[in-house]
Amino acid sequence: MIVAEQRIPVAAPSITDREVACVADAARTAWGPGHYAYNAKFERALADYVGVKHAISVPHATAALHLALAALGIGPGDEVIAPDVTWIASVAPIVQLGATPVLVDVDPVTWCIDPGAVETAMGPRTKAVIGVDLYGSTCDWERLEGVAARRGIALVEDAAEALGSERRGRRAGSFGRASAFSFHGSKTVVTGEGGMLATDDDVLFSRAQFLRDHGRAPGDRFFLNSEIAFKYKMSALQAALGAAQMERIDELVGMKRAIFGWYRERLADLDGIVLNAEPPDTFNSYWMTTVVLDPALGLDKFAVMAGLDRRNIDSRPFFSRLSTLPAFADRPESTRFVTPRDKGARAAEYGVNLPSGYDMTEAKADVVCGALREIVFARV
Ligand SMILES: *Cc1c(COP(=O)(O)O)cnc(C)c1O
Repeated sequence: MIVAEQRIPVAAPSITDREVACVADAARTAWGPGHYAYNAKFERALADYVGVKHAISVPHATAALHLALAALGIGPGDEVIAPDVTWIASVAPIVQLGATPVLVDVDPVTWCIDPGAVETAMGPRTKAVIGVDLYGSTCDWERLEGVAARRGIALVEDAAEALGSERRGRRAGSFGRASAFSFHGSKTVVTGEGGMLATDDDVLFSRAQFLRDHGRAPGDRFFLNSEIAFKYKMSALQAALGAAQMERIDELVGMKRAIFGWYRERLADLDGIVLNAEPPDTFNSYWMTTVVLDPALGLDKFAVMAGLDRRNIDSRPFFSRLSTLPAFADRPESTRFVTPRDKGARAAEYGVNLPSGYDMTEAKADVVCGALREIVFARV
């Protein structure tokens, strides 16, 4: 049996002396009048890269989504349509605002929200649609934009996993009226914990700035709060790390694509599996290389993970369908549109994220792919 000599982690960041120097500099200088300089630099770098006017640095992507939905005025009585297959952070803020998430099926190829299912789930209470660019894939934003425009509702983009992905020349994060990015330690760009709200909309931007600082206007020095709101700010030390990472964004996305390429080459002849899709006119930043097994192979995602674990290789399960989780057991209003046992959601049962950290090498890809072959053929 193949066993990795040293455990291969599922994720790992890429940190150079440049990042370390910037964080050290922030620790010395980012106080008083200079306290926001690194945040402003990080925000500008991200907004320019994504191709939107504004970005706001926040503690995590969950906060960015919470803030975006609050700035859009989502509240009790409202419904927000979201994909059934995603990380729970995409929908938790909807519930936190007193609104109802309405989950719908995903596309079997891109694993992203199905625009047809969105249209079916639209109702008089629908106020927004959240599309999630899963594992670096992009939603069918053209069709979603059409649906949203006809109904006059807002599109929110969860681009937490898709920094660097593109669609017809536009970058992920530029499709939503508001978009969220994550810089969690496992993501393409890291700040430890961290996130960004990106938007082209001046009104939404001002409203989010006001809401993220306890309901007061930027620059208010008199503590005259006009609403009860949130405190969602990113520390300068994290922003320094993020700004330094953005200087290397092309290199980082290039590495993600190289890692995917190593897997694709080594798994090309293995029948019964598919990897992340890259349809025409799209560019996938492949946050995590993901393998989905044909159910006929008789191995679900947890069996594959156990096999990899026995071989000293870390992996992650594809996100489960939210509608199958205990957290949604008593929320029938959220799950009324999902198709039970929908074939489109097979990835949620048979998908595994392979090690995709920046410490990956071709030699490690050899070990992981050799291990995967053993698991598929020996079923252990
Ligand atoms: C990581 C992630 C988030 C949440 O990011 P945090 O920064 O941890 O809040 C949201 N949505 C998706 C799809 C993610 O992968």
